[in-house]
Amino acid sequence: MSISFQILGKPDRDNALLVLIDSGQSQKRLLFDCGEGCLSELPVGEILNIDHLFFSHCHMDHISGFDAFFRCTFGRKSKPNVIWGPRGTKRIMQHRFQGFLWNLHTEMSGSWTVRDVLPGKIVSTRYELAEAFERAYDEGTTDFNQVILDEPEFTVSAFIMNHNTETLAFYVEEKQKVNVERNAVIQLGLKPGPWLQEVKDLTVEKAEVEVAGRTFRLDELRNEILTITGGETIAYLTDFLLDENTIGELVEKLTGCKKIVCEAQYKHADLALAQKNYHMTVKYSAMLAKAIDAEELILFHISSRYSKEDWADMLKEARNIFPNARFPVGWIESVR
Ligand SMILES: [Zn+2]
Ligand SMILES: [Zn+2]
Repeated sequence: MSISFQILGKPDRDNALLVLIDSGQSQKRLLFDCGEGCLSELPVGEILNIDHLFFSHCHMDHISGFDAFFRCTFGRKSKPNVIWGPRGTKRIMQHRFQGFLWNLHTEMSGSWTVRDVLPGKIVSTRYELAEAFERAYDEGTTDFNQVILDEPEFTVSAFIMNHNTETLAFYVEEKQKVNVERNAVIQLGLKPGPWLQEVKDLTVEKAEVEVAGRTFRLDELRNEILTITGGETIAYLTDFLLDENTIGELVEKLTGCKKIVCEAQYKHADLALAQKNYHMTVKYSAMLAKAIDAEELILFHISSRYSKEDWADMLKEARNIFPNARFPVGWIESVR
């Protein structure tokens, strides 16, 4: 089991994040944002295999590549077509669906669901290709608390942030898989039985357990008889105001996050500009990664106002606070 990822798009142009969750038996692909040109490097087969499309918000640098996605998938029936975004996404997506001439559509079929994430609730709306996307069907409202998508292999959580409009920050957590090593159980002189339930349930926290009249330290017993795989995590954070308060709030929500893909729109010297535009500075991005105790910070979505020298300074600025910060592979070399 593993999570891998790819930053799509070029440095100082629009970007997106593609996350692949590989459970060994199945693969799930999640696309976060879809700016201009972001899909040009992906084969059609891979675009067709994207399971969910998540928009942080609908500013054009995050959705203008949607046509390239829709061109491949508009009549897709091999997977449900689901788009997630903040309040108002359904209105903008319906315009995007209808932004083409449809006159052969009645013979076609393809269903699209847009899920607008509001505070504590998700509003779902369905559109049909066979109707040229003219009607919006209310598919109901569901309550949520952080987790917006719960699949057998992973969860996606969303947090509403302030970009002078609502934007979504996303957190993907791969579920852990716990297997019992039968031989290790027998070697300890034990028999598999209902007692294993408590040992396998990693939410159970206690010092000792009693099995067949013998007492074991729970952590040591787990080490002996369990194989635990999975548990990878990645957050996608872009286009919102980040300050000390917001860092404090996000630290609680992103506890245990190992990889952070985060905007670095401005140098900290341009803090006033960052705040005016409800964006982050690279220093704050690094402070967040440090506060979360992440393993790696990948910086992207950098303002085109900066030169190659500025990029090097920004990386230094981040690494002074969080040493394991980097740009996506090959970016710094290809900046003007
Ligand atoms: Zn943006
Ligand atoms: Zn924006």
